Parts: sequence; structure tokens; C-alpha cells
Amino acid sequence: MAQQMGNQPLIVLSEDSQRTSGQDAQSMNITAGKAVAESVRTTLGPKGMDKMLVDDSGNVVVTNDGVTILQEMDIEHPAANMVVEVAETQEDEVGDGTTTSVVIAGELLAKAEDLLEQDIHATILAQGYRQAAGKAKEILDDIAIEVDADDTETLQQIAGTAMTGKGAENSKDTLAQLVVDAVRAVADDEGVDTDNINVQTVVGGSVADSELVEGVIVGKERVHENMPYFAEDADIALLDTPIEVKETEIDTEVNVTDPDQLQQFLDQEEQQLREMVDQLEAVGADVVFCQKGIDDMAQHYLAQEGILAVRRAKKSDVKALSRSTGARIVSNLDDITADDLGFAGSVAEKEIGGDTKIFVEEVDEAKSVTLVLRGGTEHVVDEVERAIDDSLGVVRTTLEEGQVLPGGGAPETELALGLREYADSVGGREQLAVEAFADAIDVIPRTLAENAGLDPIDSLVDLRSQHADDESTAGLDAYSGGVVDMETDGVVEPLRVKTQAVESATEAAVMILRIDDVIAAGDLVGGKTCDDDGDDAPGGPGGPGGMGGGMGGMGGMGGMGGAM
Ligand code: ADP
Ligand code: MG
Repeated sequence: MAQQMGNQPLIVLSEDSQRTSGQDAQSMNITAGKAVAESVRTTLGPKGMDKMLVDDSGNVVVTNDGVTILQEMDIEHPAANMVVEVAETQEDEVGDGTTTSVVIAGELLAKAEDLLEQDIHATILAQGYRQAAGKAKEILDDIAIEVDADDTETLQQIAGTAMTGKGAENSKDTLAQLVVDAVRAVADDEGVDTDNINVQTVVGGSVADSELVEGVIVGKERVHENMPYFAEDADIALLDTPIEVKETEIDTEVNVTDPDQLQQFLDQEEQQLREMVDQLEAVGADVVFCQKGIDDMAQHYLAQEGILAVRRAKKSDVKALSRSTGARIVSNLDDITADDLGFAGSVAEKEIGGDTKIFVEEVDEAKSVTLVLRGGTEHVVDEVERAIDDSLGVVRTTLEEGQVLPGGGAPETELALGLREYADSVGGREQLAVEAFADAIDVIPRTLAENAGLDPIDSLVDLRSQHADDESTAGLDAYSGGVVDMETDGVVEPLRVKTQAVESATEAAVMILRIDDVIAAGDLVGGKTCDDDGDDAPGGPGGPGGMGGGMGGMGGMGGMGGAM
């Protein structure tokens, strides 16, 4: 990049770097951000479509979940990634509303683009958007409805709303009940730690066969067939060390000169294993879950002692067992004491969906539960798992926050009306930005209508007129197509789904708008798509560019790379 200084060109950037500034930078970033939103827009709402994503190695994911789609898409453009982060924040904070947040971010950028073309400065826009977001929070707080922690019906409705449109829908009622029970089981004074809810998927059976097990299911069989199948009132040991004779660090060679010596050596190994098992027996362990291996000989001894043992248990399962049985994870067998053991009323090997697993139930601490999700095929259970994930998130959020909003575009319509009114009081050029913000929010009810095959204009008019008449819970019923009271309809979501979506979408939009200079070391984006050798050769001007992972055609991102 060269600049004239007198007659001498002054080079400040390396030759490889690319620079885009002013309006070009702005419009490039806005286009990228909008493209991300566009790529998930058709999945919004109960009637939204799914996407099939295929990665480099041919793995297929079929999903309706916003954040999953964006993560699978392998997006490279930096501004586009800022919009992806909106979805990720939403996922972390609430677990649901990822598509909503991204669609709002995209529309905020689209409306800003119009105003930039009318020579409204980006700083004014940013200022107006921030003001509008602040007001939006107030409006949402105003229309929020209080929910009691023991209002099971509403909690189940919240759980169900988060599942609509995903593969879980047909068994919504069963699953919603399981989700609420699961969250309640692990809730304590400090809130809800969803880490204590283990979700296990089982291919086979139908979604309706899913169940909640109070305790932990370890996806392993007992290690030796002579061990007992079950243990009642079991004292449980958890080990993250093998029951094997340690191999020496250095390669040693043992020279044996006669068979007796060899026997002696083997006897000594056996003796050590015997002592390890005796140790477990002495402290009173009935069941042993070992994260590492268990030597064949040790297995035999354990079976002799009537101890049920599992080897190579997953670390996460062992952790869950520790929480739920109160056992301490032991790293050195020599140190084990009776205090390290946990307790469960029942430990039993059972068959589920053709697999043998160990069920640890009737646990003392009971702070851990397992949701067993079933479904006909792997793709079905995977999508059910994602739906359940959202659902657990919203029930947790509701228990923590205690406030909900009606769904179906009701809060967004309320926001758009309230913000337009507020805009008048703002005045100046910021007023235009606040109005643009209000228009942008309308994208949610409009998209819900479009995706449900309804006329978006009719739906918006209907929604607005009811909200103008103070019907703050009027929303679009995607199934009947009418505008109805969402609270009576049981379509409710936690307040935080919306406040978080508006907040992160605004932040991302403002951040992108304020950028007027992009300086990139090397190629900014897209080089890889047209250049499969994987080296860093830049995609030439006009090259196809766009998203990596073979998704170049999606959402109109193609061509971004070459524009640099
Ligand atoms: P997100 O990733 O944003 O959660 P979803 O595809 O889950 O996207 O759609 C959420 C939207 O669908 C919310 O606006 C919610 O109010 C709406 N919604 C859910 N159930 C219904 C329903 N039965 N009728 C109308 N809208 C619904
Ligand atoms: Mg959702």
C-alpha cells in the first residue's frame, strides 16, 4: 500500500496485505453480515425449514438450530464471524433464540445500509441503535409475565415452545415433561447447573420412549462375566488410575535364565495386582468404576471378591458419578480409604436400545440425572438432542429469572410499536436510526409469517392493530395462521431469550457499522474455496470466494473474496 509523500512513495504496509476503507469497507462488512442472517432466516419458527449440512468428510447434519448451522458452515469472513458470535453468545447465555438473534443483527445492518446511503453518519446510527436497544429492554421488561417456580404447566409450555420446529415436535408433551422434571431434580438454592443433567442418546425405539433416570448411566458393561450383574446398597469406588502393574518408564529388559525365575517374576506381578484388589476389598467397595484399564488377572480377582467393576469409564461419567454418589475420585490406590467411597441404592447392568449399560440409581446426593433420548435414526436423535438442549436452557433461565414473554412475534410487534413512538421523542438524526431499529425488529414476525406460508403484510397489519389495542400477548399462531393470545395458546419463552437477542444483535451491528477500514495481512477471505491445495495463495479478483467447506452458494456470500 503506497502513499505519496512529496515525490517519494511511502510504503507502510507489506505488499501482501489488503486494505479496504471508507464506504467500500462498510458495505463489504454489511453484505457479509446480512448474508449470514439470510442463511438461517428460513429456519425460523415452528414452520421453519431444516438444513442439511455436509462437511469435508461427508458427515451429514440435518438441523433447524441456528447456532449449529452457523458453526457447521465454517464461515471465514471476519465481519460475518461477528454475527456468528451473536448466535454463540445467545447459545451460551440462554440456549435458545440463536436464529432470532442473528436475523435481528442482519436486519439492523440492512436498515443501516439504507441510512448510510442517505448520508447519515455511522456514528449517529450507532448512537441511535444503542438508545433504541436500551428502550427495547424497558419495553420488554414492562410486558414480561411473572412465573412461579412451581408453575409446572407454564414451565412445560416454555420447554415445549423451545422444541417446536425441531425433530422433537411430535413427542413435545412427553419431552417437555422430562425436561422440566430433569431441571427441577438438579435445581438447588444456587440455581440450576445443567451440567448435572447428562443427556444420552440411544438409537432405536421412538422419541416417545425417552425417559429420565435419576442417577447416572455409564455407557459400559461390567468388565468380567463372572462379576455380579447388580449391587444393592452399593459402596462405590471411583478411580482415575489403572488396576495394572505399572510399566516402567524406561525400557528395561528382564533376563531370565531359568523357568523358575520367570515364574517368580510373574508371581510378583500377580501379587501386586492381588494387593490392589485387596485394597479395594478392604475399604468395602462393592462397585468400582475405573477411568483406565483393569488387568485380566485383576478382573479375575475382582470377580472372585464379588465386586462389579467397569473399566475405561468416560471421564464425564466418572465426574457425574462423583457428584451424585458423593465418591471422591482416587488417583492412588494405596491411599484409598472408606471415606472415599460413594453410595447408591442400586447399581445394575441393563440393556437399552441393544446396548448394555450400567445404571447407577437411588443415589444419595441425587444431584445428577440422566435424560435418555431415543429415536429411530441417528439423525433424529441428534436433532432431538439439540432441541432438548435449547429446552433445558429455557427452563433453567425461567427458573433463575422468573419472567416470560409470549412468543409468535408478540414481543417484537410490541417493540416495533413502542420504539416508533419513542423515536418521536428522540428527535434529530438519531430519530431516523431509532425508527430503522423499530423497522428491523419487524423482521421476526414477518419471517415467522413467511415461513408459515402466510402473507407477511396481512399478518403484520393484524398483529399491529391488536397490539395498538393493548393486546400485548397477541401473536401469530404458525399453525392456524391467525393472530391469537399466545399466553392462552401456551407459546411462551423466557424474557432473557429476547433481551439477550436484542442486546447482542445491537452490539454486533454497531461494531460492524463503526468499522471504516479493514487491513488484512494476506488474503482476507475466500482464497481456500477456489484453491484446494490448502496453501495461502490469495483468491484472485473476481474469484468465487465465499464460505469454506463447500458452502459457497449459501446466502449469497459467493464473490465476497474476490471483492477485496
Ligand atoms: P430460535 O433459534 O431463534 O429459537 P426458532 O426456530 O426456535 O428460532 O423459532 C423461534 C420463534 O418461533 C420465536 O419467535 C417463537 O416465539 C416462535 N414460535 C415458537 N412456537 C410457535 C408457535 N406455535 N406459533 C408461532 N410462533 C412460534
Ligand atoms: Mg428456538
